[in-house]
Amino acid sequence: MIKEKHIMRGLLIDLDGTLYHGTHRIDNADRLISYLQETNMPYRFVTNNSSATPEEVADRLLSMGIPATAADVCTSAQAAAGHIAQLHPGAAVFVVGEAGLKNAVIEAGLRLTEEDQPDYVLQGIDRAFTYDRLTKAVRYIHAGATFVMTNPDLLLPSSDGLIPGAGSIGAMLRAAGGKEPILIGKPSSIIMKYSLHEIGLQANETWVVGDNLATDIAFGEAAGCGTALVLTGLTNADNLSFYSKQAGCEPTVICEHLEELRSYIAEHREA
Ligand SMILES: [Mg+2]
Repeated sequence: MIKEKHIMRGLLIDLDGTLYHGTHRIDNADRLISYLQETNMPYRFVTNNSSATPEEVADRLLSMGIPATAADVCTSAQAAAGHIAQLHPGAAVFVVGEAGLKNAVIEAGLRLTEEDQPDYVLQGIDRAFTYDRLTKAVRYIHAGATFVMTNPDLLLPSSDGLIPGAGSIGAMLRAAGGKEPILIGKPSSIIMKYSLHEIGLQANETWVVGDNLATDIAFGEAAGCGTALVLTGLTNADNLSFYSKQAGCEPTVICEHLEELRSYIAEHREA
């Protein structure tokens, strides 16, 4: 029954915790992507990371031996800039963020502004964030700028421990600005629309693959996609029921590792 509901013609694949950890490739990530390429299964890598450009994300994958091009990558920065450009072509944007976000703004035909009142304050992760930048952003929000956040992730893993994510900076802007942001990244429907447009498929023929129930699986389920949870990152056999309850959603299928996922795809893909 589930199989009939969720046709598999393409995949939206998470990166961190699904294909790699930091700079370490997860076992068989390269084999999975090569298989998709060789068998002409459409896919996109969908990431909440707004700091890197699609080229940098692709280079990172390539450095780990995973085939990738910039065109395969959908970032929350691209989805955010695309969303603003659709609502307000040519809008002036004050960016709290890094190169990936600023590039996406320029590529979407928007105007970066520092000193003039912007139409939008667009915020992602900014590892050079300062009190001065916070002050500017908050004043612009109070003066009427629409507040857009690339992604709500509060914490991120790094090689030497947890680091605050874009959502933690956003919490400051939200508290001081007194305005709820528009959220772009997973589990938002905005990055789903962007990714489906990029892959050229409908939600009901697309599957979401990821390691996080609250973002990846909730994201796919809300849109009506099939969902495959892989136990390669955040979620494992021990914490599965805890995260399941917390997220309030269940994946269509759970795969312990990427070889199991590859077999599942081979069996369930639309001929
Ligand atoms: Mg992940």
